[in-house]
Amino acid sequence: MVNIEGVITVSKEQRVRGAPTNIDPAALKNFKAEMRGSVLAPDETGYDEARKAWNTTYDQHPALVALVAGAPDVIAAVNFAREQNLRVAVQSTGHGIAYPCDGGLLINTSRMTDIQIDPQSQTARVEPGVLWGDVVNQVQAFGLAALSGFAPNVGVIGYTLGGGFGWLVRKYGLAADSVRSVDLVTADGQQAHVSDMSNSDLFWGLRGGGGNFGIVTSIEFALYPVVEVFGGRVFYPVEMAKEVLSRYSQWVETIPYELTSTIAIMHLPSIADLPEPLRGKAMVIVGACYAGSAEDGAALLRPIREFGSPVVDTFAPMRYADTGTINSDPVEPQGPYGHTELIRELSSDAIDKLVEVAGACSKSPLTMVEIRHLGGAVAQVDRDANAISHRDAPFVLHTTALGASPEDVARLKQFTAFVAEAMRPFKTGGALLNFLGDGDVGEGRVRAVYSPEHYRRLVELKDKYDPENFFRLNHNIPPSSASR
Ligand SMILES: Cc1cc2nc3c(=O)[nH]c(=O)nc-3n(C[C@H](O)[C@H](O)[C@H](O)COP(=O)(O)OP(=O)(O)OC[C@H]3O[C@@H](n4cnc5c(N)ncnc54)[C@H](O)[C@@H]3O)c2cc1C
Repeated sequence: MVNIEGVITVSKEQRVRGAPTNIDPAALKNFKAEMRGSVLAPDETGYDEARKAWNTTYDQHPALVALVAGAPDVIAAVNFAREQNLRVAVQSTGHGIAYPCDGGLLINTSRMTDIQIDPQSQTARVEPGVLWGDVVNQVQAFGLAALSGFAPNVGVIGYTLGGGFGWLVRKYGLAADSVRSVDLVTADGQQAHVSDMSNSDLFWGLRGGGGNFGIVTSIEFALYPVVEVFGGRVFYPVEMAKEVLSRYSQWVETIPYELTSTIAIMHLPSIADLPEPLRGKAMVIVGACYAGSAEDGAALLRPIREFGSPVVDTFAPMRYADTGTINSDPVEPQGPYGHTELIRELSSDAIDKLVEVAGACSKSPLTMVEIRHLGGAVAQVDRDANAISHRDAPFVLHTTALGASPEDVARLKQFTAFVAEAMRPFKTGGALLNFLGDGDVGEGRVRAVYSPEHYRRLVELKDKYDPENFFRLNHNIPPSSASR
């Protein structure tokens, strides 16, 4: 079935299990011989590991997985897929998978893990299998930090192409804003070096346009002089949701760009890894990271931490490289169900609705609504600098729910729909590409990520660089031919 975007949509029930396809055996033999990495078919050792995505909702079965070992392998894989009429998908970790690669060629970049650091120019260049945790640990030795996300095991490339916002977002902006250059392989199997000086139209679109224009083989980005930060989370009982949300909404109006924070309503799992008073409980949680001295950070956080009686408070001075522990995002593969919206205000009406959400969350295990504070440096960048729209939105809200059984999934969908309806009056109508979840797949949601003018420019770029929509198993921006 082909939907309006020209994307092959395959429901979980319809998914083809790997082959059969019409791959020419002689062409496959040549392809395998050409590759420095490996090409795995469903009956070969390693196939199962290589096909898996971190997001277990997508139990994909490609006809082949190419474990690429360098740019020449990526070129060979793109050419082979085009000549054999195979759908192609690229995956580093599978955190951001939007469509399963069933019956196609999955280009798995997880073996391309080179990291080059230039302390003089304060830049790093990384290959597409590199994870944020590895970058932040290595650049720390030079007194530098990268604009990583909350979870250390997310891939640098997918995160950055989708915008990328972490604990330094209000101070230094989005990861996409700090990209200096990109090397990629386009749909015709050509290599392109892309920067402000070369292929600048594509450079504009890659920074925010996701995986629509090619397979990135390396990316260069700026680093910043941050080593020590003050960060952590403070947990209050969900019954205090109204007071904590009200205090938070006033506090964020007063804080400097060096401070990035979140407020979440979360029904925590009952696991031994958590302190006993949090296990299985619904909490309202403020998380933050201050890029400055511990003394200043503690003073800035005082109104939030010394308010009522927190159940747990984890704030402490820490290395920036350890900020992945602040949110404790799950490392093991999960099947999250999610939805996202940009929010225009945390007014008293919005807080009243969030208190209703807190009530629903306390009745539904493993559900979460998180609001991240944006603004700061994000809003300072020129609106047309790259393909990031909606820079003026002060908050992003996302709902995540975990559960595997059909009953769980029904309950989680219900929770997500409840949150979406409750927050409808406060949404801007925009969204962020990186947070589009299972509840967000489809052309309408991708369009919501961009202003009409940015979307028009992205379609023009798609017409120029990928008119056949070869790269379509992603949050897709179809070329104009798809709507004819
Ligand atoms: C637990 C968790 C925490 C997260 N935290 C944050 C956060 O703090 N901030 C934030 O901004 N986002 C966050 N995200 C969202 C995350 O940034 C996106 O899901 C992102 O797409 C993941 O990139 P990946 O390469 O790891 O995933 P993958 O699933 O491997 O890739 C996702 C998509 O990126 C594109 N892509 C990947 N590699 C390439 C390549 N080499 N060339 C071209 N396109 C490519 C493709 O379209 C691919 O489908 C989080 C997601 C999860 C699940």
